Amino acid sequence: MLRITGLRKKFGAAEVLRGVDLAVGRGQVACLIGPSGSGKSTLLRCVNHLDKLDAGRVEVDGALVGYRESGGRLRELGDRAVARRRAEIGMVFQDFNLFEHMTVLRNVIEAPVGVRRLSKQDATARAREVIARVGLADKEDAYPRQLSGGQQQRIAIARALAMDPKLLLLDEPTSALDPELVGEVLAVVRDLAQAGQTMVVATHEIGFAREVADTVVFLDGGEIVESGPPSGVLDAPRRARTREFLERVL
Ligand code: ATP
Ligand code: MG
Repeated sequence: MLRITGLRKKFGAAEVLRGVDLAVGRGQVACLIGPSGSGKSTLLRCVNHLDKLDAGRVEVDGALVGYRESGGRLRELGDRAVARRRAEIGMVFQDFNLFEHMTVLRNVIEAPVGVRRLSKQDATARAREVIARVGLADKEDAYPRQLSGGQQQRIAIARALAMDPKLLLLDEPTSALDPELVGEVLAVVRDLAQAGQTMVVATHEIGFAREVADTVVFLDGGEIVESGPPSGVLDAPRRARTREFLERVL
């Protein structure tokens, strides 16, 4: 479903991703772990072309994201073509990024109506399904400021799901939450994993990664140091850098 090959990304002189290769199969969940500044967010942003690549390629469901191939070279797509491809990739941010001046329902139907050109009626029916799925059917008329952080994040997830994404990217979805609100958001992500949603989740929640990840990817200094099933990477890491990181955070 997702295939990343030879991905490099620089900001100025700093090389933030130094040749990342990663494959995530359909229905699989990959959890990205690693120290602050290791490149987790940048990797997610490159996957949906919020950041441009310096080298390498990202393919979702066999199609390049952000570029087209022409005479063996990659050329960047225009904004509209990028937007079309990005519509297949949901993104959930640490700080929710809901539209503050819109109700929950409006937040969730915005992209299906604006980007997918669904009728308002069809979009509303679909929105109600996904809002119910995150357990907030009674909040469709609320504004974001009337919701807790955990509820806002669940709506952000519903908003992403309303587009039926082939791939869902979550960047530390619980980092901005008070501890007592973390569980309700992780429960929603866990349900999605069980339902077969393909996901890449950057997370500091190692216990959660152990539970939901098919693949845990340990990123350090812009490189994948180690990746594999949780029973390997988390419970029997092969590399000293992975062990040192886990000792610090566990
Ligand atoms: P955290 O766990 O703190 O979220 P991260 O693993 O997500 O960290 P990134 O945000 O991807 O790390 O950042 C990787 C490196 O890239 C950092 O050194 C960061 O300062 C740098 N960086 C990220 N975005 C930019 C930008 N827009 N301009 C310049 N440098 C950037
Ligand atoms: Mg980050």
